[in-house]
Order: sequence, then C-alpha cells, then structure tokens
Amino acid sequence: MAPELPTLQSDPKSLAADILNVLRYRVGKDPSVATPHDWLTAAIKAVRDRIIDQWIESTKETYEHGKKRVYYLSLEFLIGRLMRDAFSNIGLMDDMRTALASLGVDIDLIATLEPDAALGNGGLGRLAACFMESMATVGVPGHGYGIRYVNGMFRQEIHDGWQVELPETWLDHGNPWEFERRERAFEIGFGGAVESITDKSGRLERHVWKPQERVLAVAYDTPVVGWRGNRVNTLRLWSGFPVDPILLSRFNAGDHIGALAESNKADALSRVLYPADSSEAGQELRLRQEYFFSAASLQDILQRHVSAYGDLSLLPEKAAVHLNDTHPAIAVAELMRLLMDIHGLDFDKAWKITRGTFAYTNHTLLPEALESWPVRLFERLLPRHMQIIYAINAEVLLEARAVGRFGEDQIRRISLIQEDGDRRVRMGNLAFVGSHSINGVSALHTELMKETVFADLHRLYPDRINNKTNGITPRRWLFQSNQGLTSLIRETIGDTFLDNVEALKELDDFAGDAAFREKFAAVKRANKERLAAVTAERLGIRVDPSALFDIQIKRIHEYKRQLLNIVEAVALYDQIRSHPERDWAPRVKFFGGKAAPSYHNAKLIIKLANDVARVINRDPAVRGLLKVVFMPNYNVSLAEIMMPAADLSEQISTAGMEASGTGNMKFALNGALTIGTLDGANVEIKECVGDDNIFIFGLKADEVASRRADGYQPREVIEKSPELAQALSAISSGVFSPEEPGRYRGLIDGIYQSDWFMVAADFDAYADAQRQVDAVWQDSPDWYARAIRNVARVGWFSSDRTIRQYAEEIWGVPL
Ligand SMILES: *Cc1c(COP(=O)(O)O)cnc(C)c1O
Repeated sequence: MAPELPTLQSDPKSLAADILNVLRYRVGKDPSVATPHDWLTAAIKAVRDRIIDQWIESTKETYEHGKKRVYYLSLEFLIGRLMRDAFSNIGLMDDMRTALASLGVDIDLIATLEPDAALGNGGLGRLAACFMESMATVGVPGHGYGIRYVNGMFRQEIHDGWQVELPETWLDHGNPWEFERRERAFEIGFGGAVESITDKSGRLERHVWKPQERVLAVAYDTPVVGWRGNRVNTLRLWSGFPVDPILLSRFNAGDHIGALAESNKADALSRVLYPADSSEAGQELRLRQEYFFSAASLQDILQRHVSAYGDLSLLPEKAAVHLNDTHPAIAVAELMRLLMDIHGLDFDKAWKITRGTFAYTNHTLLPEALESWPVRLFERLLPRHMQIIYAINAEVLLEARAVGRFGEDQIRRISLIQEDGDRRVRMGNLAFVGSHSINGVSALHTELMKETVFADLHRLYPDRINNKTNGITPRRWLFQSNQGLTSLIRETIGDTFLDNVEALKELDDFAGDAAFREKFAAVKRANKERLAAVTAERLGIRVDPSALFDIQIKRIHEYKRQLLNIVEAVALYDQIRSHPERDWAPRVKFFGGKAAPSYHNAKLIIKLANDVARVINRDPAVRGLLKVVFMPNYNVSLAEIMMPAADLSEQISTAGMEASGTGNMKFALNGALTIGTLDGANVEIKECVGDDNIFIFGLKADEVASRRADGYQPREVIEKSPELAQALSAISSGVFSPEEPGRYRGLIDGIYQSDWFMVAADFDAYADAQRQVDAVWQDSPDWYARAIRNVARVGWFSSDRTIRQYAEEIWGVPL
C-alpha cells in the first residue's frame, strides 16, 4: 500500500505553527534570537512547502499526458521580489499576515528585506518574468532557462550626481526560493578541435568535437506559481562549476592561486549580467555565457525528451524552444550539433527538427544591438559550431539562389556571415533561419522589422514573421502593487476582472460618476503620498502629493530621450520664472534608470538630470511649482512604488526606435495618462484608450526616416524655436554646472550638429503637448475621468493575452 501523502493545512494557526517549525528545524533558530531575515526565510519556506505539491502535480500531469512543453531561453529574468507574488497567487496573503502577526512579525517589514532578484537589464528581462507568471496562470507547461548570476545587474548609487555601479549582492542571505540540483549537471565545452571520423572506405562518418576546456552547468530551480495556484512551473537557472575544483598537485606544489584557476573561470560564467542595453557587448565572456546556458538547457531538454519519448523526430511535437532575442541564438547550432554528432542524424533530418522546434522574438531594430561575433573568436571558442553555421549558411544561400529573384546584394544580406570588414557571424540571421516563427513585440515594430533588418529574409521566408504585442502581468502590476486601486475596483465592478483583466472595461461607465472619481483620486493621492515619503526618506527632497507627478523611469538611453524631457523641464523653468503671474500647474518631474557603464552620453544625462534638479529645487522663484527628482537604483521594487503614483507617463522615444515598451502599459493600467510618440506599443495603447485619453505628439516613424533622408538641419529648427534655443544655451553654457561650465557642451553640440534622435525636431510639439497636459490637469474631474478610462481600456495588454497568442499561434500548445 502506498504511504499516505502529507497534506498541509493553510489556516493562520497551522501556518504559524509551520513557520515556527521551519524556524527551528531548518533555519536552526529559536524565536527569541531570530533576526528579521530569519523570519523572512521561515515564512517563505513555510509557504514554499505548500507550493511543492502543486509543482509536482503540474510536472507529473504534463509528463503523464505527453503534453507539449515550452522552453523559454532568456539571458535575463528580471523577477524582482517573489514573496508577495507567491503568497498572493496562492491566496495566502491575508492568512500569512495574520499568522506572522500572531508571532509578533510584521509581514510588510520583512517583505522589504527580500532582495530584488535583478537578473535583467530592463524591458526584455521583465517581459521574461511576466511571461513566466502568465504561462503558469493560463496553463502552459513552461520552463524558463537562464543564468543564476551571483551579482546580477549592478546596483546604482548616485554620488554627486554621477552614476556609480556597485555589485548587487542578492544572494548574501541565501535564496529560500531555490532548489539546488547538483545531480542535474551538464558538461559544457569550449575551444579545442574537431576530429573527423571516417569509415573503412574513407567516407566521413561523423565529427567529434574535443573541447579544450570544460565546465559544469548546475541547475537551480525556482517554482513559479500561477494565479490562484493553478499551475506551478519551473525557472531553471544555471550556475558555473569547475569540473576539477582544485588542481591538487599544483596546490601541493605551492601554486595556491593557479590551483584554483579553473574554479575561478567557471565562477566567472555566472557572476554578472553584462549591462549592455541595446549596445554591443563585445566581451568574449558574454559569448561564453550565451553558449553556456544555451548548451546546458538543450542537453537538459534532449535528455528529458529522449527518456520520455525516445524518438527525436518527435521533438517539434513535444517541445517548443523559444529564443528571447538573439542572446540564445547559438542554441540553433548547438541543437544541430547534438542531433548530428551525438545522436547520429543526418543534416537534413536535424535541420528539419531544429526549425520545427525553435521560435525567435526580435526585440530591437537598432543596428548596434544586432549581435554579431567575429568569426575568429567563434572558430577559437566553438570550432564545431562554426562548421555547422557554415553548413547551414550553404543550405540557406542555396535556397535563396534557387528562388531566382535575389540579387547578389540581397544574398549577401541573407548570409549568416558578414563578409565586409572583419568577418562576423550574424546571430539575428542565425536565429531567423533556424526558427519557424519570428515575432516582433508590437504591431509597428513587426512591420518595421519586415522593412528593415529582416527585409531580405522576409522575402525569402514570407510566412515566418508575425506580431505578438507585449504584455504585463496584472497580478504584479495592479493587484499587488496597487492594492488600493484593486480594492476600489472590486467594490465597484466585482471580482471578474481578477481572472479576466479585460473585464476592467466595466469601469468605463464610472468615468462619469463623480463619487467614483473622488474615490479614484483618493487612491491615487495615497499612492503619491507613499512615493513622496520614499523620496523624502531616500533623497531628503520634499514633494507635494497634490502636484502632478510626471514620471519617466526606464533605462537611460538617447533613443528614449530623457534629454528631451530634461530640456523641456529647463524651458518650463525659464517660462515659470519669466511669467510668474500665469496659472502654472504644479509639477514634480521624476526620473529613474540605469545607464550601461560604458555608455558615456547616458551617464552624462543622469548627471544633467541631477544638476538641473539641484538648481531648480533650491530656486525660491519656482517653489511649489516645479521640482525635479532623480530616483536612484531603478528596479522592479521601485517600479512597484512609482507606477501607482504616476499621473503622467513619459513614453517619448524617437519614433521607430522603441520596439514595444512595457513600462507604458504598467503606467496606463495604474491610471496614468501617457504623453508619448507614436512608437512601439504606444500606437496600440492609443487605439485602446482613445485619442482623448492620451497626449500624442511628434514625428511618426516614417517621418523620422524621411527627415533623416532629406538632410535634416537641427540648427535651423533650433533657431526658429526661442524656448528651445534658450534652454539649450543655458545647459551648454554651464548654468547648471557652474563648477564645470563645459560639462554639457559636447552633449548639446550633438543636438546642433546631427541630432540623430530628433530632440530638436520634436521639441515644440512636445512642449505644446505638455501645456495641454497642464490644461487638462487644471480641470480635475476631466483628468480623473480620462485616467479611469485608461485603467478600464488597457486590459488587453495583459501578458495572459500575449501568452495565449504565443501558445496558439507559435508554440502549438493547446490551452
Ligand atoms: C517595465 C520595466 C522596464 C521596461 O520599461 P520601458 O519603459 O518599457 O523601457 C524596465 N525596468 C523595470 C524595472 C521595469 O519594471
């Protein structure tokens, strides 16, 4: 007879008993000496135990029914804190609060001690995190695969206005969520040579790669709980370990450091995430990281497939492997290698399986962000993969030539190898040809993809490109981060929207209801007070919660145009001082975001925001009317505080350059009005919320392209705009940097000379739109009616919708 399985009770009393139990027997502490961190660990582990049953159930069910699995490969997972997510998704938030309170522990206090798992740069990594949660929610058997960076993304401090990068130490107190799976370890090779094995008659039988270096990839699993605990999926992150932890003979010979060299090399693989945002990270280590996690994941996937089904030709039926941008594109060559060299399939069979298995999401059109690696580096690090890429390329170019209508220029652009200059491997092209589906992340971006980066590949394979507009999980970005608004909505339209966010539509009718508007405004006010308190505590800056909170938080990048916003702030500052009699709408402009450490202009923009803030905030002439705040260390937890407190969402990228954006969706869902260009998903947000509930300005993508083509002269534009000219001249001449008057000359000269990002071209339109914002803000009922309509109409941007589309149209996973 099978032993009876334990079942765990989840009333507050049982929870409290279990927390004490965990504290004693797994943390090894008595309540009298337990630190807040100990309580956090005990609380998490007590709840984690309750997730495990469902986790095992989800896995078993997938296995027993032979269901297709989705494997999501991403170099980034920006998951942030997990405690609230998990407690709330399995419906234990209130009971845990009660249970902890009965033990004298404040759940909100220990929640702030949980470190932010900062395993991503920005939007791309956060999308992967939202997707993991939505897959578990809508019932997709999904596994995330990535790297367990010990130090993750850097922590940003601001010293004297400048960004300083410090290592993130999120694992210092251990990670109560994860399970180390030492037994789930795979060898990963680098370098060495390829041997050709021939049969007796001298015919090539197969290739054997003899790597020179080897490391172990060890799995660490984190359960990912879906809404209402329906499904629990797995995020598997790989960590680098040496095959030989210590070379004992060298150690004994006195070379203590050299003896540990292998250990250090393996360790370096899973140390830091290169904070390269849309710019090329040329480091060899980055390519090593990409191969390391792709190869480990594919070995894992194949091993599971072979043990369950045996037959490799069934792989596309049983597994969908998704490439989140080009970072894991090397997986295409690795799967080919495993199928041919290890499992003995011929090229044609392997190629068919490979293309049937992979799908790829493109995240950017910026040329500098299209990954490519020098052929020489590739040959040295991954000699067998280089051969395979040449073989794939030969096949693709043969196909292209057979079509007959491609000229040599087009053939050259289709090639996986860039031949001009130093020869490089084009990872985007590799991902494209190795996938049966290539998707963009907003309608506009998908169309531009067809016209620009992948124009030729699209002509060759016209059925592959499709659109899947990004989304965000409403659990984290509304239910958890904006509890006040969530309660108000439940009181007003009931609970249907908790399971189907598109039911938020019912709120639309309440935009005209004065009593509801007042309640809505009170919730917003409370969220702004919370942000004001954080601002006072962290920066010592006092801001008035009744002012308009105007927020731009995202990676600092020239195309995102924080500079346009700052220049407009300077112009506004001038205007307020010269026309104090006018009825100005009081504003606080918030900025936040990290700059890639090697990105000079982005770091200078951070300094400028801080310099401008310093001058404006201490000028009595604008007191109460304008404040500027730069919030350090923008991350998921800070976003959770800032999004609900926003009145105005700044989404002002140069049209054609932001692939989608997801920050724009989070703001709108929390009742902020967008001021933005027709770029990325802003276009679709405008369609959903309606023209009256968004402030759109500036050049459109095609207009940006034609202005550039027609010989755009920024100087002429600036000369025609006195406000702009004055603001630029103030910044350039050192008004905000008297201690170093020339600090911003280069930055501003860039606008005069080329202005690639169209700051000058869009300035007047932007400033006009801001004055419209002021006007609407002054009519408070109108403002809140528009804000309510935003909340009501953006349910479509739920990542549940996005994931259902991926499941049905890309992965072939029935729901
Ligand atoms: C949503 C999010 C982003 C993406 O913001 P965009 O405005 O779309 O660039 C970046 N970082 C964090 C922490 C986020 O939560």
